[in-house]
Amino acid sequence: MDYDEKRKRLAERLRYELNLSNRVYEAIKNVPRHLFVPERYKIEAYVDTPLPIGFGQTISAPHMVAIMCELLDLREGEKVLEIGTGCGYHAAVVAELVGEKGKVVSVEYIPELADMAKANLSALGYDNVVVIVGDGSKGYEPEAPYDKIYVTASAPDIPKPLIEQLKPGGRMVIPVGDSVQWLVVVEKDEKGNIKKKNWGSVRFVPLRGEYGFKKR
Ligand code: SAH
Repeated sequence: MDYDEKRKRLAERLRYELNLSNRVYEAIKNVPRHLFVPERYKIEAYVDTPLPIGFGQTISAPHMVAIMCELLDLREGEKVLEIGTGCGYHAAVVAELVGEKGKVVSVEYIPELADMAKANLSALGYDNVVVIVGDGSKGYEPEAPYDKIYVTASAPDIPKPLIEQLKPGGRMVIPVGDSVQWLVVVEKDEKGNIKKKNWGSVRFVPLRGEYGFKKR
């Protein structure tokens, strides 16, 4: 079976199991995950599992990417901040959902991973994604505010700058916790009030930087 066929089957399975919207299903079906993972993991790219991408980091499992996209309720034309670019796969899925009029600003801590993501994204023509090297636990002020924000590494607490950089009416999805982690959905209403909802328990690598975990 070729990669396209495997990807289609995975997307169909996730659509069924997670009751995915058509838009998220199409995005998962369109993004070639095998072109984002290191060569030796290509063969496993359409197994629903996280995979190593080097530097102790992992690309999230496809179901987690799909669930986070659903929770964010992404629309065409939105400006989205991603913290933790990794290999760029998740950013590409979000780029499909916000379309050419939208924009994904993605911050990555490890320069080598940022380079890898940039190469992957430009090879596939994702011109609506900008990758920045830096400490995303502080968000990215120059492009703020954002319609949506999501974090792909677990934080000790919701970083204050991220809440500040969210537009009124905006939404954020972020894993919070150490050995036990919860995926938290944060909504900011038009008056700037914050409402938090717990989606459930998850497993992510730790967020580093000023509002992240210190290395042990
Ligand atoms: N979305 C990625 C998953 C990457 S794993 C993908 O599709 O591949 C989480 C990433 O968060 C890692 O690459 C890690 O280096 C990065 N990270 C951790 N702390 C960070 C911080 N403070 N700022 C930016 N990126 C950070």
